[in-house]
Amino acid sequence: MQTPQLALITGSTSGIGLGIARVLARDGYQVILHGLGTHAQIEAARAEVAALSPHPVHYLGTDLADVNAIEHALSETLAECGPVSVLVNNAGLQHTAPIHEFPIDKYRQIIDVNLNACFHTTRLLLPAMRAQGYGRILNIASVHGLVASVNKVAYVMAKHGLIGLTKATALENAGLGITCNAICPGWTHTPLIEAQIEAKADALGVDVAEGGRQLLAEKQPSQEFVTTEQLGELVRFLCTDAAAQITGASLPIDGGWTAQ
Ligand code: NAD
Repeated sequence: MQTPQLALITGSTSGIGLGIARVLARDGYQVILHGLGTHAQIEAARAEVAALSPHPVHYLGTDLADVNAIEHALSETLAECGPVSVLVNNAGLQHTAPIHEFPIDKYRQIIDVNLNACFHTTRLLLPAMRAQGYGRILNIASVHGLVASVNKVAYVMAKHGLIGLTKATALENAGLGITCNAICPGWTHTPLIEAQIEAKADALGVDVAEGGRQLLAEKQPSQEFVTTEQLGELVRFLCTDAAAQITGASLPIDGGWTAQ
């Protein structure tokens, strides 16, 4: 059997990352799951992905706000598993507040995890990609990498920065068999947006399902959530030879949000 390609998806114990892991596992990649969570959540994610994959599923529990921990985890991964061919920088968090009230600790955490960690994983995994002449780096940005919304200053800053990182990485590695692209999802129903759905429902005095519909109505013309399966399929396509000339791009998958 041919050696499977190794794919590391950060933040894949939940939501979008888990959806991407499912699609890549199904497609024959050897998946390295990563993320935080309870033992039960992590084991459930691992079992779900393992059921789709003929290969062992590895797991990293690295806190992405800790640079030393990232360096340690990735050097061990490279030594044990070999070069990572597909890096999906997906882990992220959100906090909403106006800029003049934004808590400093939340600001730092969002910039560290949603942006700085992507710089570190990329710089640490690129040498092995360059040595093997192949690599796919997918940065899960957001519509908020392209446009802003109120009360999301740290998130908007991090996601705009991630698009800058994407372009710089793409240029430095063009022609070396390595592409780097940003994916910019609109509302996707995952734990990350639960608090925003609940806040909307509370503000309008409606139930959570109606809160979700109202959130969509404000920004997402399709009035439908993006699915984690759709995001996984876009990642899968960007890993194919057909996508070899797509690099440095920021691809919205947002039901029309950024077309307005
Ligand atoms: P989620 O909350 O379901 O998953 C977030 C993942 O990131 C989890 O696995 C969590 O453990 C991990 N994570 C968070 N902080 C971490 C830390 N300090 N160290 C290590 N791992 C950490 O959220 P999601 O919606 O699946 O979000 C995934 C990505 O998609 C994020 O970058 C988010 O900004 C982006 N995104 C989400 C939406 C949406 O509507 N849900 C829209 C656009 C972009």
